[in-house]
Amino acid sequence: MNLKSQTLPELTALFREMGEPGFRAKQVYTWLHKGVRSYDEMTNLPQTLRQKLAQQYPICPPEVVRKQQSQKDGTIKYLWRLSDGNCVETVLMRYHYGNTVCISTEVGCRMGCAFCASTLGGLVRRLEAYEMLDQVLFTQVDSGLPVSHIVLMGIGEPLDNFDNVMRFLELVNSPEGMNISMRHISLSTCGLVPKIDLLAEKKLQLTLSVSLHAPNDEIRNQIMPVNKAYPIQELLDACRRYYQATSRRISFEYAMINGVNDTPEAAKELLRRLKGLPAHFNLIPLNHVEESPLKPSTKKAVAQFQKILEDGGVPATVRRTLGGDIDASCGQLRRKYTRTNP
Ligand code: SAH
Repeated sequence: MNLKSQTLPELTALFREMGEPGFRAKQVYTWLHKGVRSYDEMTNLPQTLRQKLAQQYPICPPEVVRKQQSQKDGTIKYLWRLSDGNCVETVLMRYHYGNTVCISTEVGCRMGCAFCASTLGGLVRRLEAYEMLDQVLFTQVDSGLPVSHIVLMGIGEPLDNFDNVMRFLELVNSPEGMNISMRHISLSTCGLVPKIDLLAEKKLQLTLSVSLHAPNDEIRNQIMPVNKAYPIQELLDACRRYYQATSRRISFEYAMINGVNDTPEAAKELLRRLKGLPAHFNLIPLNHVEESPLKPSTKKAVAQFQKILEDGGVPATVRRTLGGDIDASCGQLRRKYTRTNP
């Protein structure tokens, strides 16, 4: 067990069992959520307690394996080594409204999307709550930049690691911890319908991003195997239920793939299917993945697609390419590194 995965009430109960007063739990919680690397940094704790904790509950912070910084827009990408030797990626993006960290939720992914680098080696394992929190904490510590926003859009499918992700959200949102507002958090899913319903029940104020990438089953089945389990109509019905439960507008991700999903007909079909559902579209020119024959749409096709959606009353933005000189998308660095350093 890692202490950093425990909520403050859980930590307090644990400390009581160890015969320590409750306020010690709060002190330790506060230190851990500052991103200390050792109990020796917890200077207001008795030496004996520091030693005991270090022995029973090692902190195990991740190590930086690679750090790439864009000269163009300051985007920083980290490859971390976790305590068991597995690697994950985190990206820090600098926006006018604040610094946003894009975190991984799993080592690899089992969803099999045809355009995505993170899924090529399959799922290795799910991340613990503290391993997600560590990505935020140590990105902030290493970069010296305060993090105000989080997106769960790195390696992995967050809703396929549901309990650990919920725990992470509670930790990062806690007032005694990083205190990051749910409204500053986006969770992205490929469309696990039962888990979207489960998330809706929690009535969190985060933004649900749905990776739609197609207007119908015919196209979606070709690029996203998950669509065979949860076809597009079921997914959009779940999005409507999610909106009804939370009053939060859904954000749809749409990777623009040349000749596959980027025609004017596709945009018009989307408009028909989304009628009455408050939504926003994020059009992402496809990042090319070495092993994949899929190519990004032309600028003209993207602009035309965007115009059709907007004219139909659905706001659509084209995501600016971040860190153009370092490739800010996730998945490739971990794979490259894992291939050369097994
Ligand atoms: N599993 C989650 C979150 C991780 S992927 C999900 O599917 O939403 C984060 C986003 O990047 C998703 O919208 C995903 O479809 C998209 N993505 C993956 N590979 C991409 C690529 N090569 N080009 C553009 N977007 C990509």
